[in-house]
Amino acid sequence: MDLMKEDVERPNELIEVTSLDHKQVIKNDKGGLTLGGMLTNSETANHPEVRTQYPLLSMAMLSAATAQIRNMATNGGNLLQRTRCPYFFEVSMPCNKREPGTGCGALKGMNALHAIFGWNDKCIAVHPSDMAVALAAIGGTVEVKKADGSSRMIEITDFHRLPGDNPEKDTNLIPGELITAIHLPKPDFSEHYYYLKIRERASYAFAILSVAAGLQINNGLIIKAGLAMGGVAHKPWKLTNAENYLSGKTPDQANFQAAAKLAMKDAKPLEDNKYKVEMGEKAIIRALTQAYQRKA
Ligand code: SF4
Repeated sequence: MDLMKEDVERPNELIEVTSLDHKQVIKNDKGGLTLGGMLTNSETANHPEVRTQYPLLSMAMLSAATAQIRNMATNGGNLLQRTRCPYFFEVSMPCNKREPGTGCGALKGMNALHAIFGWNDKCIAVHPSDMAVALAAIGGTVEVKKADGSSRMIEITDFHRLPGDNPEKDTNLIPGELITAIHLPKPDFSEHYYYLKIRERASYAFAILSVAAGLQINNGLIIKAGLAMGGVAHKPWKLTNAENYLSGKTPDQANFQAAAKLAMKDAKPLEDNKYKVEMGEKAIIRALTQAYQRKA
C-alpha cells in the first residue's frame, strides 16, 4: 500500500490473501516450530513457544516498526518488504530496482545507509527486515506454495538474493508463489542470545546496522554460534566464517574480537558509509558479549 501511495508500484491486480489459513504455530518433525506465513508479527513474537525457545527471533521481531504495524504485518509480508533506499521511493530519480536499466541514484549519491557487502554498481541497497536477520542466525526453511498448488522449501539463507544483474528481484520467489510457513530447526540458542539494533531513534526506525547473535555453550565452550547482520547487504548477511571460528572456542573477549574482525574482513564500504566497518565490528563484539552474559 505504501509503495502504491508513493507511486513506486502500479499493480494491475491486487489479490486479497488475509482470509487464507496458515495462521498457526505448531511443532514440526525436526524438533522445531512451524510458523504460519499469515500469522502476524505480534502473534509470533509473543507466542509462548517462540518466546521461550526462540527468544532471539522474538527479540528481533519486537524491535521492528511499531506495535500497531506488528499487529497487522504478517510473517510472509515481513520477509517480502522492500528496501528503504530513499532513491527507490523518489520516482524522479534513477533506480534499477524500481525501473530496471535506469541506473542507481545512490551509487554516487547519498549512500551512508547502504551496503558494505555483496553490492555491485547496479544496486547498493540493504534489506530492511529484522526478522530475516534473526532467522539467518537461527536457520530454517521457508515453505512456499506454487500457483499449481504444489509446495517447495527454500533455505532461509537462499530466500533473499544479492542484486546481481536483476536488482529488481529481492527474493528467489517465482511469480505466483506464496509464503505459507517458516520452519525453524530445533532450538539451539534459547539461553544465550541477543539482537542488537543500531538505529537513529528508539522506535519506528529501520536498522542502520544490526547483529543477531546466538550461542550454544556447554562445559565452558561454544558448541555452536549463530551470527548474522542486517543493514549491510541486499540480503541478511550470515557471518559463516565468524560462526565457524567461534565453534569449540571459549566465550571470551579475545575470541569475540577475533570473530568480529574475521566477519568484517571483506567489507567494501562506499563513500559515505565507511563508519559501518568499525561500527559492525564493535556491534558484533557487543552482541556476542550480551548473548554470553544473558541467560534466559
Ligand atoms: Fe535503486 Fe538500489 Fe540504487 Fe537504491 S541502491 S537507487 S534501490 S538501484
